[in-house]
Amino acid sequence: MGKALIIGAGGVASVAIHKCCQNPDVFEEICIASRTLEKCEAIKSKLSGSRTKIQTAQLDADYTDEVIELIKSFKPDIVMNLALPYQDLTIMDACLAAGVDYMDTANYEPPDIAKFEYKWQWAYREKFAQAGLTALLGSGFDPGVTGVFCAYAQKHYFDEIHSIDIVDANGGDHGYPFATNFNPEINIREVTANGRYFENGSWIETPPLSVKQVYDLPEIGPKNIYLMYHEELESLAVNIKGVKRIRFWMTFSDNYLNHLRVLENVGMTSIEPIEFEGRQIIPLQFLKAILPDPASLGPRTKGKTNIGCIIQGLKDGKPRTYYVYNVCDHQECYAEVGSQAISYTTGVPAMIGAMLMLKGVWKKAGVYNVEEFDPDPFMEALNKYGLPWQESFVPTLLD
Ligand code: NDP
Repeated sequence: MGKALIIGAGGVASVAIHKCCQNPDVFEEICIASRTLEKCEAIKSKLSGSRTKIQTAQLDADYTDEVIELIKSFKPDIVMNLALPYQDLTIMDACLAAGVDYMDTANYEPPDIAKFEYKWQWAYREKFAQAGLTALLGSGFDPGVTGVFCAYAQKHYFDEIHSIDIVDANGGDHGYPFATNFNPEINIREVTANGRYFENGSWIETPPLSVKQVYDLPEIGPKNIYLMYHEELESLAVNIKGVKRIRFWMTFSDNYLNHLRVLENVGMTSIEPIEFEGRQIIPLQFLKAILPDPASLGPRTKGKTNIGCIIQGLKDGKPRTYYVYNVCDHQECYAEVGSQAISYTTGVPAMIGAMLMLKGVWKKAGVYNVEEFDPDPFMEALNKYGLPWQESFVPTLLD
């Protein structure tokens, strides 16, 4: 059916590529392009028996011209941006210049300030609309599946949605004293930022990790969950009409938080450059270099993740509560694609978003978040491609 240019060769890209290759009728040909060519080659070599034709390329996606040149020579039908949030705009510019659809899993971030805002990418709406191209933003798990869950609830179960609580729990254990499950720089920037949630039309800020509850998660058990800001809150506050409150919660172990607190106290999580032996370094980037590579956690991680949405509102004038979630087993993911569940839960929806675009099912000119498309084909594909979901109408509510 089509050709995909996949930018990035990290944890998420590796899973998405495995999944594309399980779906060779849609992904007939792919090009894996990243900063380090050997990483592209390593993924390709694991998939040598695939019917999907694979080629690789060295690419620095910080340079729009390099991306344009590669698009022009490979001629993809879609560009899947699975590099880092810093490359979103250069890649979107290249897609516009070369006339190809775009998708990603995380919103643009300027390297010098952690912002998590869609404004830079939403500013491209007119340009993509005029070019007749689709840009799909945030097709991972959160953002991604969580937005699809909300759109599905809105379509099938509610006349009005009043509150959404997104709960992201990782019950996995990798056995290291401290490591992050995905890119440490992005992960720590996210966790050390202020908490923020949407209520009655305004945003309420809380100090980092200062609001905590205990939630008993199916298949994982009771966990401490902490209120955080997460990028899908911004788009859901706009796209789920009439919603009064949206919050995002994530589990952290006491051990993880103790390590993080020490690293923060000594300045290791800072993104302000410092002078070190005659050169400028960014402490958080240095920390990334000494922490375990998230890709190395795969074989060691045991346990499950559970990510879902608890939604309240009205149906036929009566109050209703709905909980929809996915449980994913780290070791089963590793056995299937050689990655733990954090990369798996992001890489599978990335493939699904791209598949729906290539099939023309999710296709409209402009820049869109996942919840702006019909959720049904995505929900069906989650069950088919390894992220089956479950639903309940009697969940425990959060305070
Ligand atoms: P990794 O750090 O494992 O991989 C990033 C990849 O991008 C690496 O291969 C890296 O190359 C490559 N890269 C970085 N800069 C450039 C560049 N300038 N040009 C070309 N390639 C580049 O990250 P993950 O796989 O964990 O995450 C990928 C994306 O997924 C991130 O944007 C992350 O925020 C997002 N994400 C989204 C989630 C969701 O649920 N929506 C959850 C988890 C992650 P090199 O190896 O040379 O550094």
